[in-house]
Amino acid sequence: MRIDIITALPDIVEGPLQQSILRRAAERRLVDIRVHDLRAYATDKHRQIDDYPFGGGAGMVLKPEPLFACVEAIQDEVDGKVDEVIYLTPDGQTLDQPLANRLSMKDHLVLIAGHYKGIDQRVRDALVTMEVSIGDYVLSGGELPALVLVDAVVRLIPDVLGDASSALTDSFQDGLLDAPVYTRPAEFRGLRVPEVLLSGDHQRIDAWRDEQRIRKTKERRPDLLACEKD
Ligand code: SAM
Repeated sequence: MRIDIITALPDIVEGPLQQSILRRAAERRLVDIRVHDLRAYATDKHRQIDDYPFGGGAGMVLKPEPLFACVEAIQDEVDGKVDEVIYLTPDGQTLDQPLANRLSMKDHLVLIAGHYKGIDQRVRDALVTMEVSIGDYVLSGGELPALVLVDAVVRLIPDVLGDASSALTDSFQDGLLDAPVYTRPAEFRGLRVPEVLLSGDHQRIDAWRDEQRIRKTKERRPDLLACEKD
């Protein structure tokens, strides 16, 4: 999979891509993530990427020219074979596990991180194919939301995780929250790991985990169980 991230603040994005699972996925060529500095696509001599909003009001707006130039340069490079041009925005559809699953099956995503008041509406109308929010709150820029989306999607690409079954049993993957996990020592400060996990009986362990997942989901997210029935 290829992912292009367009941002006015590339430094925010670069660091996390060099760590842990995302770095290893790139090293193993399971994903090719490219970061584009929006300023490099500015056309005027001051390299201006933002301007005042028409009609007045607070906050600057990211100009259309650099965003069009950047997205079109990426599209030209791949003969228009970009699957989705995604704008990260609080008024988009909320990112959840089913959406992450669907995006992980795509070949090429372009992500646009906004800033200030947002991006010129014409970019959204003409170039953007999907708008995604990471939750009902407002951040200063789309860089962290873009990284959240990248992480949620890349870990689902086959072979990215050492053990594929790990992602399959994570919360939300089948509409349930994950079961509690324990590691050694079996007893710590008088607190014992549930005996069933030490039993070596995998049928009993699976049954215990299923029971825990259902119990926790009922307690914390009954809405997920209600969705299951729909
Ligand atoms: N005026 C916009 C609004 O109220 O919908 C908010 C702009 S916000 C200050 C600046 C940028 O941060 C947005 O263009 C978007 O890219 C990003 N952003 C902020 N919160 C976000 C969220 N919850 N999900 C996705 N992107 C977000």
